Amino acid sequence: NVRVRFAPSPTGPLHIGGVRTALFNYLFAKKFNGTFVLRIEDTDQNRFVAGAENYITDALNWCNIPYDEGPGKEGKCGPYKQSERKHLYKKYADDLIISGHAYYAFDSADALDVHRKDHETNGKTFIYNWHNREKLSNSLSLSTEDVNAKLNAGEEYVIRFKSPQDQTLNLKDIIRGNIKIDTNILDDKVLFKSDGMPTYHLANIVDDHLMDISHVIRGEEWLPSLALHSQLYTAFGWEAPEFAHLPLILKPTGKGKLSKRDGDKLGFPVFPLEYTSPEGAVSKGYKEEGYFAEAVINFLALLGWNPGTEQELFNLDGLVEAFELERVNKAGARFDPDKIKWFNHQYMQQQDNDAIAEEFQTQHTALASIDVNYIGLVVGLVKERATFISDLWALSSYFFVAPESYDEKASKKAFKDGTKDLMLQLVDVISNTSEFEVETLQTEIKGWITSNDISFGKIMMPLRLALVGALQGPDVFDIMYMIGKKETLQRIDKVIA
Ligand code: GLU
Repeated sequence: NVRVRFAPSPTGPLHIGGVRTALFNYLFAKKFNGTFVLRIEDTDQNRFVAGAENYITDALNWCNIPYDEGPGKEGKCGPYKQSERKHLYKKYADDLIISGHAYYAFDSADALDVHRKDHETNGKTFIYNWHNREKLSNSLSLSTEDVNAKLNAGEEYVIRFKSPQDQTLNLKDIIRGNIKIDTNILDDKVLFKSDGMPTYHLANIVDDHLMDISHVIRGEEWLPSLALHSQLYTAFGWEAPEFAHLPLILKPTGKGKLSKRDGDKLGFPVFPLEYTSPEGAVSKGYKEEGYFAEAVINFLALLGWNPGTEQELFNLDGLVEAFELERVNKAGARFDPDKIKWFNHQYMQQQDNDAIAEEFQTQHTALASIDVNYIGLVVGLVKERATFISDLWALSSYFFVAPESYDEKASKKAFKDGTKDLMLQLVDVISNTSEFEVETLQTEIKGWITSNDISFGKIMMPLRLALVGALQGPDVFDIMYMIGKKETLQRIDKVIA
């Protein structure tokens, strides 16, 4: 029974790396008809950012990767916000003390600083573990009476995990294979604090257990925690889930981890939705920049995973079917902002023209009173050159309003001696066409050109200039048909006036 979770801490907006983690969890869950859980890890109240939790759920919704259980979708393992579960964790910390896997430590922050500095002066790093536990203030170095006295006096304490000496841990990761860790290098991590709050490590393990999580799929930055986490499962006597640590997402240069600053510097978003920080700083979002959620998802799926074939375009169902954790790479995945544009372009081609037309219409007041079916036909004619819906107006405005000016270079190229006279003849031909349909126009105009032995460009260039204002755009016969006979003739009159 596959149950996976996405467990963000609401310390800021969900960046694109977080969305990828959520996506891989979602794909894995759906592939095995499992359950995708959202758990909000908000035990660190110092780092809490107002609005971040809503941002996370809004982002997942926009991406169309909804969770099955989580805040607002209570299931059998709720509540799904750790701050609402805080009464639950103390017991587990106590259990570890009783079983000898954890201990109380009373060292003040200042005392620890002194030890740290001492070590530094000797060129060493201070690690709180078996090396020096005895010299520090904790229930392994103090007498039971002293410990009880401190506890009774309400002295501040933390509960630390007692990391074993001289052991080799054999860890397993679905993506990375077997990993051996020497326990002597591990520190005695804090699990619980006397303010009544568990640390990330304890809450995360307890919740994964209580929520019956079968697979933990998360970012590579959590790999160093795996040693502690797997020891915690053993200490509790619980069966551990399987682990898969996803590769880092690298800067466009391929060097170093992608950060918010890279996006700001190079002008591409690293967030799914626009985000305004509590200080008022605005970061771009894929949604607001005009990306299709499907394109973003398709792009993210291939960031560290590949199907083993050349196929790049996948809809969500296709991804669910093709996705395999075993095919996720170990090496970091380079973030290429141009590639995501390429995906957007592809999705633009696949999208229904009428759906695009509706959105396009909302973006331009000039389109407000125009029949949306007409706009849809225009979209069909120009979208192969568009990456975003916001590109469409520049590519198609002449379908809606006559050009107000003509490109200078194009005019010079299109207008030679005799062009005006030819255009007057063309007006006659068009006025006398048997019907104003694309094929008829094409046959009759081309027929007139050939039978008079005129070179093609001499007609087509000025005609295009009249219709478009430049020498670009789709087939002129399509354009004439779309804008209609009267408008076509008016535009030719205007260009030769
Ligand atoms: N709360 C952690 C985070 O913010 C979760 C890590 C994990 O998935 O275990 O990423």
